[in-house]
Order: sequence, then structure tokens, then C-alpha cells
Amino acid sequence: MCGVAGIFGIESAERYVAEILFAIQHRGQESCGLSVKMANGDIATYKQMGLVKHVFTSEVFDRFTGVNAIGHVRYPTAGSSDILNSQPHTVPLPDGSTLAFCANGDVVNYAEWREFLEKRKVAFTSNNDGELIARLIAYRMFAEGLAIEAAIESIQRDIEGAFSALLLYRDQLYAFRDPHGFRPFVMGHRTWQGVGEMPSQGTCFASETCAFGIIGAQFVREVKPGEIIRLEPNRPATTVAINGATPRHCIFELIYFSRPDTLTFGEFVYRVRKKIGATLAHYDHDIPSGDDLAVMAVPDSSNFVALGYAAEKEVPFEMGLIRNHYVGRTFISPYQKKRDEGVKQKFNPLPAFFEGKRVVLVDDSIVRGTTLRKIVRMIRGAGAKEIHVRIGSPRVIGPCFYGIDTPTREELIATRMSLQETCVYLSADSLKHIELDDLLRIVARPGDFCTACFSGDYLYVPPSFVKSNAPGC
Ligand code: SF4
Repeated sequence: MCGVAGIFGIESAERYVAEILFAIQHRGQESCGLSVKMANGDIATYKQMGLVKHVFTSEVFDRFTGVNAIGHVRYPTAGSSDILNSQPHTVPLPDGSTLAFCANGDVVNYAEWREFLEKRKVAFTSNNDGELIARLIAYRMFAEGLAIEAAIESIQRDIEGAFSALLLYRDQLYAFRDPHGFRPFVMGHRTWQGVGEMPSQGTCFASETCAFGIIGAQFVREVKPGEIIRLEPNRPATTVAINGATPRHCIFELIYFSRPDTLTFGEFVYRVRKKIGATLAHYDHDIPSGDDLAVMAVPDSSNFVALGYAAEKEVPFEMGLIRNHYVGRTFISPYQKKRDEGVKQKFNPLPAFFEGKRVVLVDDSIVRGTTLRKIVRMIRGAGAKEIHVRIGSPRVIGPCFYGIDTPTREELIATRMSLQETCVYLSADSLKHIELDDLLRIVARPGDFCTACFSGDYLYVPPSFVKSNAPGC
């Protein structure tokens, strides 16, 4: 998971890009960067390890300023976490210009295309799949003589995987998406009135709509699966091509990744989560309501699921766990040790709250189970007499090849333990997941979603069924 931001035709574009990245920081906390078309015609890039609020200082904005910019927050889905793998990537071109590129997603056939380019003497500075796409576009343009738009179309044809991508080239910005539209990608519009001037307007792109309100922009529409949008000075945004295929939107975006205040794939995320909670409540006719029943979430991504459960069950939603917001998401940490440390730092039970309570504890998913096990034990230690764990997603039975860190089957608890064994492992009194069929009944267009990590229905499986060494995003 990563996030992208783009601004075209707005003065101080770099500041707006940084604002968007700040709003979608939950999509990646390891590194961030931006590329700006400068007044002298150069495309300049600045990227660092760390959070948006720390990396982008006023000194950075003074040095890197322009009216067109793209940016990225990175979460490494595999492999090394270092500045070389952060985005945007820049490729110096034979015509003296520079191409800057960033994307949210994963290239599944990375090894194949890296070998293709290396055999043709193309040198790499990282092993990030964003750099692969940038260099393949440059190769197609300057070694094979394709126009930039044809080069992008070749990417949509040849690259297997997910990419919601932004590219800066000369005075143009391109926004394009993989044919299946795995990751979210939206376009917005910003209009403003300068003193004594005609109204001005600019275009913006983001991984999530929640970023637009912050910069005073309005959501226009999704970038369509397979669409290529070109922006150039003094012209409206133009759709160059739509090379779409059957949509395969990631349903996990609705369950966990996207912010609840985002409109993703045509669905209000918070509404989907509340309906998931209501569905889970329907499974629980055997849990009677009562003053000793507390419905609560593992905060924050499960809050709306728990709210939906509590409303359906007609019992109050409780906040039994307090989250320290200065610790990052535990699931998003790529290293087990960091995850283990993070749980205790992140959650603390309310004193005297749990004594004698029956608790319905709602979480969004179980991947490895280690975090949830610690939380259940924490609540039990605080005095709860029953703990019923309810999960807002089906069991995760396989890895994701499209930009999410569920790296190997062996690490997934659902491949090692039955549901009952998992319940015992968690030390819970009962454990239920939403059924996949019920989850799909909640969304308007169930056929448009990827459910591969729950169902095993993969569009493409790498030969070895393990991820390549390419760090995603
Ligand atoms: S495999 Fe799972 S996480 Fe990956 S895109 Fe499909 S639904 Fe999303």
C-alpha cells in the first residue's frame, strides 16, 4: 500500500501535493517525496525517509516550487526500506529532459521486465517496481521510438499488476491506471479567486477523496481502470485512451486501508464498514444484550464496523481501548519486532472498565493473529469475563500480489489453523468472520472486486507463488 498525489496548474503545487500526502499518510509512513516542474523548466525531485510533516519543511518548499507536481508516500510491501526505493523516480532522457514517475501498486511480473531491460543495458538505481515502469516507458520512447502515450499504453498491456500512476514529462502531467483498477485513484478540481483576477482553476489527483477537502478541491471522478489522462497548459484534461478490462478493485480498501471519510470505488467507506458490523450482529442471536455487554473496536480502522454492530444489536458502542496516536499502524510495520513492540505502546485498556463484562471485540482482519492475541489477553487481564471476537473480513487465506503486505501463505494464521484453533490461539470465547458472500452483498457492484486473498480467485499467480524481490510501491 502506498499513496500518490498530483497537482497540475496551481501555483505552489508542491505545497498542495504535500497536503494531499499528509491526508493519505495512513497509506505509507516509511518515506515520502515529490517532483516539481520548476520555473527554469527542470523537473526536480526531493525525497526522504520519514513522515510528510517532518520531510517537507518550508525550506524544501522554497527550493522546490512550481505549478505542476507529483508526490508519493511509501509503504514497502517487501524488501529493503531505503531512500533508493522511495518515490518519485526520475529518469534522465536522451533529449535532455527528465521523466518523473510515482505509483501505488505492485508489478507482479517484475523479474521478467527487469531482465528484459537489463539485457538491453538499461541500468537501475533501485529494485523498486516504480523505477521499472519509469525506465520501461523511457526505453519504449527512446529505444523503440514510441510517443509517450503509446509507451504508457504498452505498460498497461505488458505490466501485470496494480498501478495508479502519475508521470511528469516536460510541461505535461499524465495520470494512468492499470486495466483492472486495483488501487483507488481519483481526480479533483480546484477553483480559486485571486485579487482582481479571473477565477483560476487547476486539477488534482489523489489515492483517496478525503484529501480533496483539505486543499479546497472538489472530487470530480475516478480515473477509470485502464485510462490515460493527459494534462497540458491551457487545455482541459484529456482522456487519451481507456484500455480497461474487467474491474478488480481491492475489496480490502473498503474494509481496512482507505480512510472512513473516503469515497472509494463508488462506495462510502464508513457506510460499508457499518453494514459489515450490522451483518456480523445478525450472526449473534445467541449473544443476549444486557448491561454487562460491551461492543467495542480495536481502534481505529474497526470503529465503524463496531458502530454498525452496536447499532444493529441496540447496545452502546464503547471505547474500552485507548489508542496512542503517535504510534504507527502495527499492520503497516514490515518487521515483526516493530509490530510486537507496537501493540503495547499503542493500546491501553480503560481502568476498571472491563471487570465482569462480556465483550464483543471487533477487528477488521486477522492476518498473522499476533496483534489480536495480545489485545485479547490485555482485555482478559483487565477483568473481562467473556470475549467474543468478530472480524469484518473473511479469513485471509492467501497473499496479495497487488500492493498489500500479506507476504507468504506460511505467515497467515488461516493457513496454519482452523477457525476453532485460531479462537483458542487468541484466547477468545468465540470467533466469527463475515462470510465472503455477505460481504459482497454489501457493495453495489460485487463483480467488480478482487477477493483473491479471501477466495484464492487470483487473476495472475507468479510462477513460484511467492513475491518477487521487488519492493512494491
Ligand atoms: S488479493 Fe486481497 S488485498 Fe490484494 S488486491 Fe485482492 S482483495 Fe485486495
